[in-house]
Amino acid sequence: MTYNDKESYIWTGVTMTGRRNSRNRRQEILRRKKLGACTGALAVLFVCLVIAISSTLNAEQAEAGENGKNQTNENLPVSGTVTPEEPAEKETPAEPVEQVGQGLTIVLDPGHGAKDPGCGIEAENVWEADLTLAIARKIEPLLTAAGYTVIYTRQEEEEYINIWDRAAFANEKKADLFVSIHLNSDGTEEGAVGDGIAEGIETWYYGKKDKVSVKLAEAVQEAVIASTQAKNLKTKEDTYIVIKDSAMPACLVECGFLTHKEERSRLITDEYQQKLAEGIVTGIKEFTKEYLTKDAGSDAASAQ
Ligand SMILES: [Zn+2]
Repeated sequence: MTYNDKESYIWTGVTMTGRRNSRNRRQEILRRKKLGACTGALAVLFVCLVIAISSTLNAEQAEAGENGKNQTNENLPVSGTVTPEEPAEKETPAEPVEQVGQGLTIVLDPGHGAKDPGCGIEAENVWEADLTLAIARKIEPLLTAAGYTVIYTRQEEEEYINIWDRAAFANEKKADLFVSIHLNSDGTEEGAVGDGIAEGIETWYYGKKDKVSVKLAEAVQEAVIASTQAKNLKTKEDTYIVIKDSAMPACLVECGFLTHKEERSRLITDEYQQKLAEGIVTGIKEFTKEYLTKDAGSDAASAQ
């Protein structure tokens, strides 16, 4: 279609009227009326359609607005004193414990037992043998959670095992570590009144056996002091049978003085025993990472 054709097409109605007869004119008028009616109907339909779409959009907007309003109301405190609830996602699960002890066996040695109560305060019925077992029982699940296989030298209050048999037991089990738990006394006799001066924690090792028992003692001593805030009596060397005769890296922790009144009052509580346990386990894990991992394992083995 050319430009001119388009022009004539637009003005067809006007240009034709002068040349048509009356019949044609009536038909033309009728056609125009029909066309007009048809156009009008289409216009009405179009307007209706626009109104309908507009109504739908308005309804949706109103609904969205209502929801938004509801959400806002849910988040707003009803009164000035109401605190919004913490989102559920903030309740993070406990972190998984690092499996540093995987594949390692540790012998846990609660000192004394049965006919050998250790040191104690008779008037208060507080005895070393009971407390070493209580502390060991708090250590065991922490070690197990970190992947260690834990073996006790004794598990019952009435159980008695001499010190030579404890070391031999650890050797027989081919343990990778040996940790003995004890409580201290201020040179007083068993069952003394208990108001001595000495207090604090010390850890013993036997250095001639290997090169790393001292590192185990240092790691445990540092961690247990950090955990308990007790007086730091440092690490010391001696020839105690359990740490001397056991073939693996070993240490003996004196967890505090039962003859010291304040320290004793702490030592008999579950909370303080838990702090001791956590500190000792932290030290064991630190030592393990440094000396008993696959990379460092040969160091400990060759040092023995
Ligand atoms: Zn003892």
